[in-house]
This record gives sequence, structure tokens and C-alpha cells, in this order.
Amino acid sequence: IVVVEGVNKHFGDLHVLKDINLTVGKGDVVVVLGPSGSGKSTLCRTINRLETFETGRILIDGQPLPEEGKALAKLRADVGMVFQSFNLFAHKTILQNVTLGPMKVRGIGKAEAERKATELLERVGVQQQRDKYPAQLSGGQQQRVAIARSLAMNPKVMLFDEPTSALDPEMINEVLDVMTSLAKEGMTMIVVTHEMGFARRAADRVVFMDEGEIVEQDTPEEFFTNARSPRAKDFLSKIL
Ligand code: ATP
Ligand code: MG
Repeated sequence: IVVVEGVNKHFGDLHVLKDINLTVGKGDVVVVLGPSGSGKSTLCRTINRLETFETGRILIDGQPLPEEGKALAKLRADVGMVFQSFNLFAHKTILQNVTLGPMKVRGIGKAEAERKATELLERVGVQQQRDKYPAQLSGGQQQRVAIARSLAMNPKVMLFDEPTSALDPEMINEVLDVMTSLAKEGMTMIVVTHEMGFARRAADRVVFMDEGEIVEQDTPEEFFTNARSPRAKDFLSKIL
């Protein structure tokens, strides 16, 4: 459902994505690992067209990435993204945060949007908070609202860029649990994370990046026990 073919990107002199090839099938969960600065966030942002690229192509559900306008807004709805910082609208309630996108971008009526939002807030376990404002919620709760907000758009794929790195330890699992159940329900997901437990438990495939390249791709079992490249071995020796 996501095809990245021969993508190259520079930031000035820095070759940040080097001939990236990645195919993510429907229902696949791909975890992207790699040291800081290896290009993981840039890859996610490029797939969502928050960044441009120079050569290669990216297809979402068979369609090339649109440049701008309505088509781009629709792409952003089809490709949900959850960041490290929760990016909720501070002056809207939790319920409004989740209903706004479907009403504006998908043209769904208010009653229907609220019905769907309530169902999603329940699913991520924050329905009690629906009339509060983001600042009144814990980080873990806010991140679960951010996930519900993305899901409300009925995305074809969800990108997660270190969704738990800004959270206190006791809140990490409540977010990972939501992500694990999404994965089990068949959501197509690309997840950048340092949570190796999640990678082992939920990933169909691990993609290891270093210095802008995809160095290795394998099942989590293979990757964690039998990484082939010296760079992956070195990375694993530092984190495991
Ligand atoms: P981390 O694990 O620290 O989040 P990452 O793998 O996500 O790292 P990126 O954020 O994709 O890495 O950054 C890749 C490289 O591109 C880094 O060297 C970074 O400094 C550089 N970079 C990222 N964004 C920009 C930008 N807007 N302008 C210039 N350089 C950038
Ligand atoms: Mg990053």
C-alpha cells in the first residue's frame, strides 16, 4: 500500500535519504530502527509529503504523492501521522480535536463525526476526558487522543514517529498497548521507535537505517538474533 522507490533527498550537502526502497503491504507493521540522525523522521515526513524529495517515487495505494491542494489534504488524511509531541489543538476540547478533521476534510456531519469520535476515544481509553482541554490530560492520554484523531480520518496507513519518547515511563505502555491492538486489528503501520519490546511483539518487519540508507530489513526474530551487517550489530549492542 506504500511503495517507496529509489528515493533520494538532500538537506544542502547532507545526503539524508540514499536510494530508499521500501514496500509496505496492506496490514503490514514495519518498525524503523536506527541511530539518531539516520533519517528515520525524514523518511516518515517524506512519505507524508511534509518534505519534498529529489529523485524516485512514492506511491500510496497505487497513486503518486500529490504536490498540493485538495489531493494533498486527502493524502494527509489517508496517511495518518502521530509525532513525538502530541500536537493537539490546545484551544479545542478532546472531542473537538477528534471531530474537526473528519468534518473539514472528509465532509462528515457533526453528529456522525461525534459518534465516531466517541467510539474511538473509548477504544483508546480516554472517553471520560472528552470535554476537557489537552493541557488537562496526561502525556499518555494526549498521545492516545492524537492516535484517535488520526484514526478518525480512516487512514489507509498510520505513521508513528517515536510516539512514546516524550512520555514518562509509566505512560509508555498505555500508548504501546493501543498501538499493539491496532497492529493486531490489521492496520498498516510504519513505526519509528526505540521500544524493542514493541518491535518484537508487533512488527512483521524491522527496517534498520543508518546514515540515510536502509542497511537491513528482516523479521524481528532474525534481526534481533542474527543481524548481518556490522552497523546493525553495533546498534543492537548499544541498545539491548
Ligand atoms: P532521531 O533518532 O534523532 O530522531 P532521525 O533518524 O529521525 O534521528 P532525521 O531527523 O531524519 O533523523 O535527520 C536526519 C539528518 O538530517 C540529521 O543529520 C539531521 O540533522 C538532518 N536534518 C533533519 N531535518 C533537517 C532540516 N530541516 N534541515 C537540515 N537538516 C536536517
Ligand atoms: Mg527522528
